[in-house]
Amino acid sequence: MKLAATIALAAVLFVAILAYCFPRGRVSGRPGVLYILVAAIACEAVLVSILAAQSATRVRDLLTDDYAGIGSLAGHAGGDPSGSGFVAAQVAAFPQPAVSDEAAWRSWQRRLRSHLKNEVYELDLDGPRPNAPGQFLQRTGSDAGLLRKEFAIPAADGDLIPAVMLAPVDAGSPLPGILVIPGHVKDGRSGLAQMVLPVRSYQQSAARELALAGFATLTVELRGFGMRGPPDFANHLIVAYNAILGGGFYKKLAVDDIRRALDLFEQLPEVDAARLGIAGVSLGGELAVEYAALDERIKAISFHSHGGRTGPFAGRDAPDAAQPHYCHVIPDANGIMRKEDPFLLLAPRPTQGLRGGHEPFPDDGLFAGELQAVWTILGAPADLQIETIPNQGHLFFVEPATRFFKEHL
Ligand SMILES: [Zn+2]
Repeated sequence: MKLAATIALAAVLFVAILAYCFPRGRVSGRPGVLYILVAAIACEAVLVSILAAQSATRVRDLLTDDYAGIGSLAGHAGGDPSGSGFVAAQVAAFPQPAVSDEAAWRSWQRRLRSHLKNEVYELDLDGPRPNAPGQFLQRTGSDAGLLRKEFAIPAADGDLIPAVMLAPVDAGSPLPGILVIPGHVKDGRSGLAQMVLPVRSYQQSAARELALAGFATLTVELRGFGMRGPPDFANHLIVAYNAILGGGFYKKLAVDDIRRALDLFEQLPEVDAARLGIAGVSLGGELAVEYAALDERIKAISFHSHGGRTGPFAGRDAPDAAQPHYCHVIPDANGIMRKEDPFLLLAPRPTQGLRGGHEPFPDDGLFAGELQAVWTILGAPADLQIETIPNQGHLFFVEPATRFFKEHL
């Protein structure tokens, strides 16, 4: 439809509304002016929406009107214009065992973990450990009965990872230690601060609350967030972009940072290195699962507001699909595994997964059952807890996490 015709339609609509109003005496005095105003706004809305629809169809109109031959080629019959078909057709190199056999599942776990650790994440768990973690200590303090140690831990690229340890003052003996991984925060906010300070956020000050409950906790700032993000440095979307450009991915960088934090954490005098756990919310829950899948030093895992889907990683092909966050993407993921596989590498270790009844990211209804089956095959059916907390949204569930770690660490 041409622009002139669209304007004419809007004008006819405007006149029609006025014609409807005038004979009934509705257009007189102040209420009448209001009617005219409302009519004008309605016509404007019609005009704008028609023009918007026109711009979406303009490419097709141009082709079919002027280049009929090319237009007939534009149907993509049998093609894969978005590339999502290719992704969906990929076959996992490490398919889950088809049998409920413990040895088969343990063998599958070993092979997939080894591949992820060595080829995908290139995580060097046998590399040199800091022999004097105190050298990275910046400051020590205390508040509300908690000892606080602030660290700046060197990352692989020389960047410094801000990390805060909290533990009850004068615990007397080494405590079970929990790495706490924050999730997304807006530019200018700090996930580390939201975990260790008594401030309101969906992270629920979880590291602080777990320390008050008797654990040693260590929280890191993720790349591209808080002290490692705007306004001083690029945000995590840019970090993720650069990581892919360089042949890596965001979670690979984050997992290497977490490994360095854990190497330091387990050597602190406040921590019992034989009793280490990991917890996180949202992206932090994802990183907690991915990390623990690779590193068996982690004895118990609590992930919050994360997971709930099984099967292949879905590509996107809707014309109006939102731009995804590349922070979640593992290159060639479907060529390696399925969505639930990192969770299955946690079995049979004690694992807790909690989500709110109002969680915005849907559960496919299969997730809990598929995980439970593997914990059962591996002989620890009671050590998996996947639960929905009614009337809650996307957040860290501190009280059940505290109960879980009290029981399992
Ligand atoms: Zn992200």
